[in-house]
Amino acid sequence: RKSTVVITGASSGVGLYAAKAFANRGWHVVMACRDLAKAQKAAQDLGIPQNSYTIMLIDLGSLDSVRRFVNNFRATGKSLDALVCNAAIYMPLIKEPLRSPEGYELTMTTNHLGHFLLCNLMLDDLKKSPAADRRLVILGTVTHNPDELGGKIPPRPDLGDLEGFAAGFKPPISMIDGKKFEPVKAYKDSKVCNVLTMRELHRRYHESTGITFTSLYPGCVAETPLFRNHYPLFQKLFPLFQKHITGGYVSQELAGERVAAVVIDPEYKQSGAYWSWGNRQKKDGKSFVQKVSPQARDDAKAGRLWELSEQLVGLA
Ligand code: NDP
Repeated sequence: RKSTVVITGASSGVGLYAAKAFANRGWHVVMACRDLAKAQKAAQDLGIPQNSYTIMLIDLGSLDSVRRFVNNFRATGKSLDALVCNAAIYMPLIKEPLRSPEGYELTMTTNHLGHFLLCNLMLDDLKKSPAADRRLVILGTVTHNPDELGGKIPPRPDLGDLEGFAAGFKPPISMIDGKKFEPVKAYKDSKVCNVLTMRELHRRYHESTGITFTSLYPGCVAETPLFRNHYPLFQKLFPLFQKHITGGYVSQELAGERVAAVVIDPEYKQSGAYWSWGNRQKKDGKSFVQKVSPQARDDAKAGRLWELSEQLVGLA
């Protein structure tokens, strides 16, 4: 039996290269994407063997679409051995918030709420897998953590007391802390939510299910299209800055391999861990379990975020 992984946002960047790495390791990849034609072309252009992947529609910015994806996946009859939550948007230049069909701010919906719903629904599928080793991996980032160099640049993430979620997260509310809209902070806040979700999944379900829950920071993958909504000059200089000044630069290929390793290799089986290869890439640098930011390791916050997210996605 071929192992199956679902990976969101596999039409570009880290997700696309991770799909290739999984295929190289003999896995079947379900590429869960919002633009099927784009995903198809990307997989072909990268030379991923056609019999090693299936492309399926998901729009993480719509909770209905997430539910439809899960039903469509179940209809394929495949068993789920691993889930990778990778898709994200980063919209640094917008002045007004975009909204999901439910009316929720779109960066937080896509990066956190859509994945939160997906994880909750697909937990059942992971439980049913006959594989001894099942893993759920959520992409993190150094920018979630002001304790580290890469996370010190303002605006810093701050979930406050989740006032924005508690008040229903609909207009005029656009931020999780209920404060003024700030698109870069919205991205960082959502990535803190990703880490909190991983840790709460671990706390709630690791012992009873045996599933491994982890996150990773693959390094600064400065050439992915994540920065497509930034100034053109930024897009040109950022990779050079990361390569020659900070040393944080990682190729898309290597980032993809790191994702596959965290899902497959025995050394990454520790549940609740956040894996990093450091801010500066050293030749043959080894991975290690990194301490996450004070907000991201706040267990009370993780519990409260879980409850409010359940309400917002209609699980409670
Ligand atoms: P990309 O922009 O290259 O890829 C993002 C993927 O998410 C694309 O496939 C995109 O689809 C998809 N996506 C966006 N919105 C939706 C949606 N509503 N529904 C479904 N899919 C969607 O970014 P990266 O590869 O750089 O980022 C991937 C992950 O890695 C993110 O979680 C990011 O936070 C994390 N990360 C990235 C770092 C970096 O330096 N680049 C560093 C640390 C972490 P489409 O092609 O249709 O736009």
